Amino acid sequence: MLSRGTLAEISLSSYRHNLRYFIERVYPSHVMAVVKADAYGHGALRISEAAMNAGVDYLAVAFIEEALELRKSGIDAPILVFNHIGREYLHSALSEDISVTVSSHEQLDYWGALLSDLRGLKIHLKVDTGMKRLGVRPEEVSRTARSIVRMGAILEGVYSHLSCADERDESFSLKQKDAFDSVLDELDSAGLLPEQRHLCNSAGSFRFNSDRYSHVRLGIASFGLQPSAEVFDSNLEPVLRWKTVISMVKDIYPGERVSYGGTFVSKRTMRVATIPVGYADGYNRLLSNCGEVLISGSRCRILGRVCMDQFIVDVTGLQDDPEIGDEVVLLGKQGAESITAEEIASRIGTINYEVTCSISRRVPRVLI
Ligand SMILES: *Cc1c(COP(=O)(O)O)cnc(C)c1O
Repeated sequence: MLSRGTLAEISLSSYRHNLRYFIERVYPSHVMAVVKADAYGHGALRISEAAMNAGVDYLAVAFIEEALELRKSGIDAPILVFNHIGREYLHSALSEDISVTVSSHEQLDYWGALLSDLRGLKIHLKVDTGMKRLGVRPEEVSRTARSIVRMGAILEGVYSHLSCADERDESFSLKQKDAFDSVLDELDSAGLLPEQRHLCNSAGSFRFNSDRYSHVRLGIASFGLQPSAEVFDSNLEPVLRWKTVISMVKDIYPGERVSYGGTFVSKRTMRVATIPVGYADGYNRLLSNCGEVLISGSRCRILGRVCMDQFIVDVTGLQDDPEIGDEVVLLGKQGAESITAEEIASRIGTINYEVTCSISRRVPRVLI
């Protein structure tokens, strides 16, 4: 849908830059590129291709459909599925050579009851070192690892996930790291230590990686987005720039009310522009009366409510009188100004991850 000039530009060179930066930084560990949720809204296929070209040797997604879609599009790299898989999908995992996560002994029993033969299935065993989301407890690791091997599956990896890696205080992460290292020691002495071992997400890879770990699982930072206000790195380049054009410009007069509910009332004569993007595009309605966009390099604030397909901004006093078709930047740089995903996130009380993931299918992703 390009008729309205709305698109998300994806800079593959910025993505490559971020990956290369991490590939060097975490060496001798490798980078596993996390491309779940359509690569955090950036487009999983193109991003996966770029990751492979940049020298990444492993991809990861949340659900098996995401992996199958990549296979169908010709991605033949190793892919790990992090999350739950109904057992009726295990045959596709086997036939498409997709690695899966085992998070509990019960899950293995549940699979085994249906698939008498898990021969050749590649499994990464997930250990819960403190997040309490998925994973076996450290004391269960050896037993579960043995069962995996006994069932004829391949114990390809073991991993855990840090729950507080993006906070300044390192104490909980260090506890998790210790627990994970003990698990590796135990597997090693049992002769079960798998080739792939990974603990760190983006934030963790800055501070808690180790030569013992084969990979870091890099999501948010690969897209040039900061893990948090406390853990950030100015070398990262944002990959996505979201832009559109002005659909109408006009004056409004004192006392006139703007958009649904008339929540903005003009006190003076104002010049306003209508923007053909709304919450159905993933432009959050909580930006009503508080968000800003860039027009001719200046910040223009949103007046009234964001609608499903459009909203209105204040362009009073802009140096060049704006016209239909002029570029509007919702997220990213224009001239010397820039609106970051972090800024939008803080306005609406969420994190940058949600801002790009929410940009809907109606917005074409265009490579630049
Ligand atoms: C999403 C996810 C990641 C990536 O995290 P970032 O903070 O985006 O780097 C890593 N590991 C697991 C298990 C995940 O679900």
